[in-house]
Amino acid sequence: MRNTIATSSVLLTVMLGACGGEDAGASAGESADASSGTDAVSTGEEPTTGEPEPFVAIPARGGIKISKVEANPGVAVPIGLDGLDVGGSGRNAFIPRERDTLIRVFVDIPEEDWVARELEARLVLTVDGVDTTLTQKLLVENDSRDSGLSSGFYFGVPKEVMLPGLRYQVSLWETQPGQESLPEPAEPARSPLSGTAFVGVESARAEMRVVLVPVDYSFGGCSKVVDGEEHREGFESALFQQNAVQGIDFQIHEPFKVAYDMTNFNGLSKLVSEISQLRTADGVDPNVYYYGLFDNCGKCIGDGGANSGCTVGLAADITGGTQSDARYRAAAGQLNAGSAETFVHEVGHTQGRRHIECSGAGVQAQGTDPNYPYEGGRIGVWGFGVRDFQMYHPTVNSDYMSYCGQVWVSDWQWNATYKRILALTEWGSADVAPSPKTKTKEEGVLVGAVDPSGQQVWWTGPGGLSEERTLSATHVVVFEFADGEVEVPAQVSVREHYPTRNIVAQLPAGFDERELLGVRLRDEDGEHESVSDAAIRRLHGPDKLKAPN
Ligand SMILES: [Zn+2]
Repeated sequence: MRNTIATSSVLLTVMLGACGGEDAGASAGESADASSGTDAVSTGEEPTTGEPEPFVAIPARGGIKISKVEANPGVAVPIGLDGLDVGGSGRNAFIPRERDTLIRVFVDIPEEDWVARELEARLVLTVDGVDTTLTQKLLVENDSRDSGLSSGFYFGVPKEVMLPGLRYQVSLWETQPGQESLPEPAEPARSPLSGTAFVGVESARAEMRVVLVPVDYSFGGCSKVVDGEEHREGFESALFQQNAVQGIDFQIHEPFKVAYDMTNFNGLSKLVSEISQLRTADGVDPNVYYYGLFDNCGKCIGDGGANSGCTVGLAADITGGTQSDARYRAAAGQLNAGSAETFVHEVGHTQGRRHIECSGAGVQAQGTDPNYPYEGGRIGVWGFGVRDFQMYHPTVNSDYMSYCGQVWVSDWQWNATYKRILALTEWGSADVAPSPKTKTKEEGVLVGAVDPSGQQVWWTGPGGLSEERTLSATHVVVFEFADGEVEVPAQVSVREHYPTRNIVAQLPAGFDERELLGVRLRDEDGEHESVSDAAIRRLHGPDKLKAPN
């Protein structure tokens, strides 16, 4: 869950891929051989006397060096340092294919005798025998700084160029006469110093599939139908920017009716269970994420006194990575000013991500991940939004799985979700359906969500137990059939907040033929209240799908 309203970080607005003018960014063009200097660069100044020879660019003089080349598809990844390439083992984060990516070129000027002047950087990107040359001119007065995008050169590399096997070389050139008398530098202002180096674009496809479910809410004087289309762009962009994907298949569901109280935690918990049921009933592929978005007229959802603050979202689980975990690729959140960030956070839980402890958060997050590498939940490296063109400061922003207000994705989280994204992408896309699992008649599970308040929501679903989880030693589901009771051990997981227990038990043999009276959970606290058969929604067999229950 998330407790706070996220605020956006407007540190620096840049133009990615702008080509309007010399200072506005990089422009793309084709060039067979940029290093030969044959494509002369005009000074842009009208000659006033005589007919001077046009200036032929020469490599930058005066001892300037390229100290760093950095790719940023969302998090900063150095790909060149001090003229050497950064190999795969030295990389801090994955660079996904076919994604708009910022490439920054940092320069170091000599300590003394530097004459401030305009230089041009030429970035030559090569893949499959095709060169793409991007150029940018910049008045170079000082060393480049991480915090100042325009203190160095930068290029918006379009997704069409970001292909596996892509190599780069970047070099600096004089743009006007005056430095010819200086000696050619022993080390050229080039990176890598000789030849080309890999950008390091991953070869695997990386996509996400999301269904946004607008809630049609009516209870206690509040009637609100969320307009899914209105939020498509904001939600899709927030998720896209902070996940290492090349694309998101983003669908809007028909409105989902809710007529119970969504101003308390029981309502939110029930909605999350129902969104899980909805994705089962819809029969979607196992790699599809469902997210319910509701408007409760801005009411604060308290959490029973466990914490102060308002709960704004909840996920069905810290979801496992197998196909049988599909039922828990479901979450819900409140419509408010920070609802796109809440969406990214809750989907993060269903990508298997735990909370990150954040020193600046007013509320302590539950179940924080002890493996997080950065102090205080900070993101650690510079972030960049490939859609909003903003830079995100490494020690001002915190990871989006924390409860801190100003959030972005850390490189650590970026890598963790990328592995899950790859695994799920392999299962198939909207165009390529995964191979159907053969179902036996008995296959199916009973699923329960048991809240600390005593609220229980139970349903049946197709598939089996999670292959990632073991059976609980203490949790047993008792199936109360008319002809006797059957005890089945259960898998148990705990939701990220408050904490609801998820119970999954295999349906006993002959389940469909026997008369069920009810089920009850037995755990370390003893026997829970029995839930009658009429309250259990049946979704486990193909013939039960889309049941109007
Ligand atoms: Zn959370």
